[in-house]
Parts: sequence; C-alpha cells; structure tokens
Amino acid sequence: MKKAKSGENNPMFGRHHSKETIQKIKAKSSGWHHTKEAIAKMRKAKLGTHLSDETKAKISKAFLGRKVSDETRRKMREAQLREKGSGWKGGIGNRPYPVEFDYNLKTLIRERDNNTCQLCGRTKKEEGRNLCVHHIDYVKENLDPKNLITLCNRCNGKVNVYRGYWMNHFTSKYPSTNKMLRLANMMNGLVYYPYLDVCYFQSNYGHHAADGYFRIDAVPFQAVIHLLKGGSITIVDATRKNKPLSDGLRFGVPTWCIVFNRALNFKGSRHIKVCGWQTPEMKGVALSSKHRSLVRTIRKLVKIYGYKKPAVIGENIFVECHQGADFDDKPKRLREIIEKEFCFS
Ligand SMILES: [Zn+2]
Repeated sequence: MKKAKSGENNPMFGRHHSKETIQKIKAKSSGWHHTKEAIAKMRKAKLGTHLSDETKAKISKAFLGRKVSDETRRKMREAQLREKGSGWKGGIGNRPYPVEFDYNLKTLIRERDNNTCQLCGRTKKEEGRNLCVHHIDYVKENLDPKNLITLCNRCNGKVNVYRGYWMNHFTSKYPSTNKMLRLANMMNGLVYYPYLDVCYFQSNYGHHAADGYFRIDAVPFQAVIHLLKGGSITIVDATRKNKPLSDGLRFGVPTWCIVFNRALNFKGSRHIKVCGWQTPEMKGVALSSKHRSLVRTIRKLVKIYGYKKPAVIGENIFVECHQGADFDDKPKRLREIIEKEFCFS
C-alpha cells in the first residue's frame, strides 16, 4: 500500500492543493482531537519500539539546516515557559544557591572527583571549561560533600529529569562515601570543616575543662547510629600553636568514647582502653552519674540498631587537629588555611 501510492503512483504527484482546499481541510480538522482511548492505543503500539539508526539518520538529515523563524522561536519558548515547562517543579529553580556554595567549595568537589564527570567520564580538559557540581538530593541548601558530585554540562542537564532515579543511582553507587563521617567540633573545628555536621566538645563548658564534660548531644545521634552500624567518625578541631591536640579532642572525645562503650553494656565494655592518653580521671567522669542520661539514650539506640564494635580512637574514631589557628584570626587568614588544608577522607 505504502509503496503503491508513493512517488509517481500517488494521485497527488506533481499536483498541489489550491489555497481554498487547504483552508477547507484546515477548517474540517480544527478542534478535532483523538479520544483518550485512541491515544492510549497509539501509545501502547509505540511502547518499547525503537527507531533504527538508519531512520534516526534520515530524521536528523531532514532537520539539518532547518531555519526556525524568530516568531516560531518565540512560540516554542513560550510553550515551555515557567509552569508550562516540564522542568518547572513549582519554581524551585528560582531559589538562590546559598552563599557557601561558592567557587572554593566547588573546586574542592571537582578536585575530589579528579575533574571528571562521575556519570560519563568526560574530563575538564575535554569539556574545555570547569565541570558542574550537582546536588544529589536536589536540595540546594545541602552542601554536605557527600551530597555533591561532579558532572559535565550534558550529564548535569540529563539528571534534571527522572530525579528519583538519579538520586537512587548516585546514592547507591557511592555508598562508600558514607563509611567515614566527618564532624567539626564547634568553633575552631567549624573553621576547618564548615559544611558538615557539628559536635560539641568544648573546653570551656562550665569549669570542667580537664574533666571533659560535654553536652548530651556532643556527638549528633545520627553519628551515633552511624557508629553503631559499624561506620567510622573523624572529629576535626583546631588549636593554637604548640598543642598537639585541642582540649576537646584530648579530653572530651576519649571521655565520650568511654561513655559510648559503657552504653554498649557488654561484659568489660566499660574497661576498654579508648586511647593511649586515657587517664583515670576520664574514666571517673565517664562512669559518673553526670552522663547517665546520655548512656540511657545511647542504649535505646543500641536496642534498635545493635552495635558492631566499641569506640576506640584510631580504630573507628579518628581525631584531626589543625595547628596555629585561632577562631579570632582574621577571615582572610582563615580562608587561606581552609584552602590549603581542607581535605576529604
Ligand atoms: Zn558527563
């Protein structure tokens, strides 16, 4: 049929409809729509079918060099504008990125990913410009490095549709990024790790600096769960010159580890040595009634999540102390230090 009516055999071959006829045809078909059933049928018939490369090449050739008038261009643009477009998503795209999502953070993410698109492998060199930094969960405010990933321009566009799929893709592809959690101790630690969770081991809490007293939520419960599940934690802090460890890392963290182990509640758990510089005072503080409420809370989490191993510094708890920075240092100096020392595990 198709062949019999093609080319010379077609009754319209070499002939043209008059303008009048065209108007008539137009008038007859305007306002006419396929029924829902018909659309469903057509959809079903097309589903799973693919165009052959040959056909694709033909279509491409037909469109090649096609000029679109400014008028058509305007119409095409308007048809996809704002809420009419498939990428509208309620206007969330118009929300600004937080100020912390700046050149420095993006550079760090790109360097972590070797300046290579993590989807297709395209490099910065091939792209001829800096690669994009994508938010895996599409939340612009979530600047956790685990939520940021380097993509080329093309892939960055690609992941903007089927968002759920891509979110799952990236989170399941890089589960290893979850194995190590980095927490910044308040104040100086924040200077070094401003984009992640925070913990509270302050040497100036009350008058118990040397004892290592800390708040019940010294380590956020999300991190406690992470630890119970067998993950590791690095706590980042900073100190003035000539101190190998800040007071928070030196007293607070080991004491917290003893409290954590006490909460695990197996025979001998409270006697595990958590670090080389553990003192009898730390143990005294950790086992005192001061931290009973924390022990109770962690025990509730143990009931839900179980535990893999006790907290021991150097095994699943790591401390990282930067030297020679004061919180009162000038912002410019701090920026220099961040740029120089900011590193990813
Ligand atoms: Zn790519």
